[in-house]
Amino acid sequence: TYVVTDACIKCKYTDCVEVCPVDCFYEGDNMLVINPSECIDCGVCEPECPAEAILPDTEDGLEKWLELNTKFSAEW
Ligand code: SF4
Repeated sequence: TYVVTDACIKCKYTDCVEVCPVDCFYEGDNMLVINPSECIDCGVCEPECPAEAILPDTEDGLEKWLELNTKFSAEW
């Protein structure tokens, strides 16, 4: 799955939402999040993010962000 990280906070762009083929972006408290169980790992959103906030969860140190993406996307 891909995860949205802190660079998204207060970002006003929604380019990622528009390109996602499975509509798995949701609104968190002050940033967008990706629902990990819906994300199909296509990677289309990553280059679209102007803030470079979207990263694959295979990168180190993203556990906290994965947890947060899971938590906030589950509330919908
Ligand atoms: Fe959507 Fe693909 Fe990005 Fe996952 S990797 S959030 S499916 S655009």
